Amino acid sequence: MPFSLSSPRVAIIGGGPAGLMAAEVLSQGDARIDLFDAMPSVGRKFLLAGKGGMNLTHSEALAPFLSRYGQRQAEIEPLLAAFGPEALRAWAHDLGIDTFVGSSGRVFPTDMKAAPLLRAWLHRLRGSGVNFHVRHRWLGWNEAGELRFASPTGETTQAFDAVILALGGGSWARLGSNGAWVPMLQAHGVDVAALKPSNCGFDVGWSALFKERYAGQPLKSVTLTFGEFQRQGEFVVSENGIEGSLIYAASAAIRDTIEANGSAQIWLDLAPGKSLQRVIAEVVHPRGSRSLSSHLQSRAGITGVSD
Ligand SMILES: Cc1cc2nc3c(=O)[nH]c(=O)nc-3n(C[C@H](O)[C@H](O)[C@H](O)COP(=O)(O)OP(=O)(O)OC[C@H]3O[C@@H](n4cnc5c(N)ncnc54)[C@H](O)[C@@H]3O)c2cc1C
Repeated sequence: MPFSLSSPRVAIIGGGPAGLMAAEVLSQGDARIDLFDAMPSVGRKFLLAGKGGMNLTHSEALAPFLSRYGQRQAEIEPLLAAFGPEALRAWAHDLGIDTFVGSSGRVFPTDMKAAPLLRAWLHRLRGSGVNFHVRHRWLGWNEAGELRFASPTGETTQAFDAVILALGGGSWARLGSNGAWVPMLQAHGVDVAALKPSNCGFDVGWSALFKERYAGQPLKSVTLTFGEFQRQGEFVVSENGIEGSLIYAASAAIRDTIEANGSAQIWLDLAPGKSLQRVIAEVVHPRGSRSLSSHLQSRAGITGVSD
């Protein structure tokens, strides 16, 4: 939309997907938009996310999709009703990026990458009149209520009618989001919920032998149960513990239990779809000269690190 000198001036601080989407929505009105980022370019974490295969959303029905938001479902539901997984796919297609549904039900750009999507998105935002200011680290406000920035030419201040903070969380600080905004806002009397790890792996005290033999190996198609959480999927044994999509899906609940008790215990069904009686009946068959591993593999379909 065209804007005039009387249009409200809005600052967006943070050029990750949250800030860019705020700029996109605002650019449909008549605001003059300036987007600031501390880094030499925007969307660095988004680009890193694309290195391992950019998972844009999930194709499952809305009810299980919503359940992934745990205690925040009620807040998230109206947001997803306004802009849900299908709308996100349509948005990507509109930027010239085709998507596909992987075997896990997750949705990816056809080339699995984030860079072409980010390039097309920035091109469209610039075309809508969004002004980008990189290498501008927001430092807070001055006494007059203006925003203070550390910039290549020294400290600058600018006044805006409204400010949107889209500063990211506290992980992967080298990509720009370092969580430094938390104490800054708290000092201004803003009540900020503590940052917590999410979508994260966990440490497990593997033995040296187990680590040596199995680090990097996947557990495919297992069912993880943790309290009310139960889902089939896959994850990987890492050097220090466990990580991967199935663990990430349960990570908020596991994290909260660790926070309360110091540790958490998960349950894995290594032969999902087979009843306990059936597994027992298969496994008690005489194994002859076969190793226990081959026996488990042939009788119960339990292979690799799982056995
Ligand atoms: C390895 C990895 C893989 C991932 N894979 C996926 C995936 O497949 N799918 C998915 O949906 N998500 C994935 N994510 C998560 C995703 O990248 C984040 O959820 C997303 O980037 C968060 O967006 P954001 O805009 O809130 O924050 P960020 O992307 O962190 O952006 C915040 C921005 O604010 C800027 N900033 C911070 N402080 C200041 C300041 N004081 N002044 C100016 N600028 C500042 C930062 O420089 C940064 O550019 C992955 C993350 C990682 C690390």
